[in-house]
Amino acid sequence: MANTVPDISLNDGNTIPQLGFGVFQIAPKDTAEAVGRALEIGYRHIDTAEMYGNEAEVGEGIRASGLDRSEVFVTSKLNNGFHRPEDARAAFESTLSALKMDYIDLFLIHWPLPTRYDGDFVSTWKTLEEFQRDGRARSIGVSNFQVAHLERLAAEADVVPAVNQIEVHPYFANEEVRAYGRAHNIPTEAWSPIAQGKVLDDPTVVDLAEEIGRTPAQVVLRWHVQRGDIIFPKSTTPKRIEENFHIFDFTLDDTAMERINGLDKGEPGRQGPNPDVFDYIPA
Ligand code: NDP
Repeated sequence: MANTVPDISLNDGNTIPQLGFGVFQIAPKDTAEAVGRALEIGYRHIDTAEMYGNEAEVGEGIRASGLDRSEVFVTSKLNNGFHRPEDARAAFESTLSALKMDYIDLFLIHWPLPTRYDGDFVSTWKTLEEFQRDGRARSIGVSNFQVAHLERLAAEADVVPAVNQIEVHPYFANEEVRAYGRAHNIPTEAWSPIAQGKVLDDPTVVDLAEEIGRTPAQVVLRWHVQRGDIIFPKSTTPKRIEENFHIFDFTLDDTAMERINGLDKGEPGRQGPNPDVFDYIPA
């Protein structure tokens, strides 16, 4: 079985590679090299954000790879301080100029911030619709949106988000939000797919990995892929960047999938902030 990364179809007619490379918490000085390594291995999808402070270095790594811009799918995200339409326009321009790109494949609202901006993320979303109309964002989507937030966009906006990027891993299956996405043609992007490493020494995961001769990270990433989610594990360790890429040449059977499904702890399994109350705005 060849290790080929499938494309996932988006509701706007575009496609996204199901596996990418995440660069959250990669220091700017290390980012171009890590991105270069990932591209060399075969990744063609990079997930960054203005908040990560390394957009410029992501652009640098892609240019240094010698790949054509069109061969790499690039996602970035609107930072929390820029939800007002005028601020969002300026922030989007600075994202493109940091990346040194004239378009982005996917641009997301990073957090809904329902307790900020008088609860208005709809005008922010309509501003992203402008970026898609003028061609500078091929696809637009959201991140950390709960069902109520998605329902509000459905009622008040024109464009259905192309993706919803949310926390999902074996300890926090986030099933209610994923189910809304399935029902409304909004693919889920699962962030922190290995819970920042915390699920890798779980006895169920370790046993499964031993049984099938794969690593714990490969088993968990493969579980996501078989559920249909889009993932972009982060690593600065060359061996792991490579390991995480090799997940398309084996399958987990139903019993194995069920064993991992059984690890869900519900809300207590969440590692990151709850989007209903998260209100962080960088200084
Ligand atoms: P991950 O679940 O991808 O885990 C990353 C951690 O796991 C790092 O400490 C890494 O260590 C370690 N690791 C990676 N691969 C392996 C392996 N094969 N074996 C053992 N350990 C491994 O966490 P992230 O939080 O980074 O999530 C992935 C991406 O999701 C982010 O980079 C970002 O793009 C996105 N994200 C989005 C958020 C949002 O709000 N929209 C929030 C959080 C993340 P090391 O680097 O030392 O190898």
